[in-house]
Amino acid sequence: MKLPSQIAHYLYLFRIWLGATMGLLLAAISHSYAMQIEGAEILSGQMIEGGLIIARTDPSNQVTLGDNQIRIAKNGVFVIGFHRDTVAPETLAITTPNGATTKTTLSPLKRTYQVQRIDGLKSAMVSPPAAVLARIKADREAVHAARNTDTALGDFWLGFDWPAHGRISGVYGSQRILNGQPRQPHYGIDIASPIGTPVYAPADGRITLVKDLYFSGWTIVMAHGLGVNSSFLHLNKTTVKLGAFVKRGTLIGTIGATGRATGPHLDWRIDWQGRRIDPGLLVGPMPPT
Ligand SMILES: [Zn+2]
Repeated sequence: MKLPSQIAHYLYLFRIWLGATMGLLLAAISHSYAMQIEGAEILSGQMIEGGLIIARTDPSNQVTLGDNQIRIAKNGVFVIGFHRDTVAPETLAITTPNGATTKTTLSPLKRTYQVQRIDGLKSAMVSPPAAVLARIKADREAVHAARNTDTALGDFWLGFDWPAHGRISGVYGSQRILNGQPRQPHYGIDIASPIGTPVYAPADGRITLVKDLYFSGWTIVMAHGLGVNSSFLHLNKTTVKLGAFVKRGTLIGTIGATGRATGPHLDWRIDWQGRRIDPGLLVGPMPPT
């Protein structure tokens, strides 16, 4: 009579183990895949650090993220972006014109990032001399203002194209060690290709900055609408004018090695409301060159 009770006990333990395992598994699956926003339809994107969710709701609704109002385009499209290091979950609320509110808790998946060591940079590019600090500050303010320039919604919500083709030589989020000294993480994706390689608009957008900056050399910032913007760094030439609205696929410049660069490459960045988005999550695989 001992055996059946032991079997029952093992079955019981097995059930607890199975329950816990399945529970964790289901939590993981619902967290990463079955992501839903109450009151909206997700068109694309992932709830992950560096991710950009593109969703659509009734344009008469109001969308807030925490205390901040989120812009909605005339067609009901809105976006939510997640920074590299997201610390706390956020609440997304959608309110209809008659005052009914639905809420969704957003807690993006954590990522692990590479450590990238770059040596042989000119010391002035790692620890800039006092004489250029004012210029660096002015550069930062110019980029900030450019990124805050709004424009009508273009076509980015249908997906981005690669702005240039080449070898991926740097990825989003890497912890940078420059000449042995820890620096800001890398927020762009680096595409290495020879000087003069064409750079095209990855989606429609308005040109909000064309400037030679200390660290990033010749730089273009382009607003895509809804607060989403692209930056293109280290260009050799720029072929667009400030304020112009360019269509997807328009030539905007060529790859160079201006500013803090060890070789010719395009550093493509995407920003939403000061949050750095991983461009690599928004495009397909790099076509073979
Ligand atoms: Zn870069």
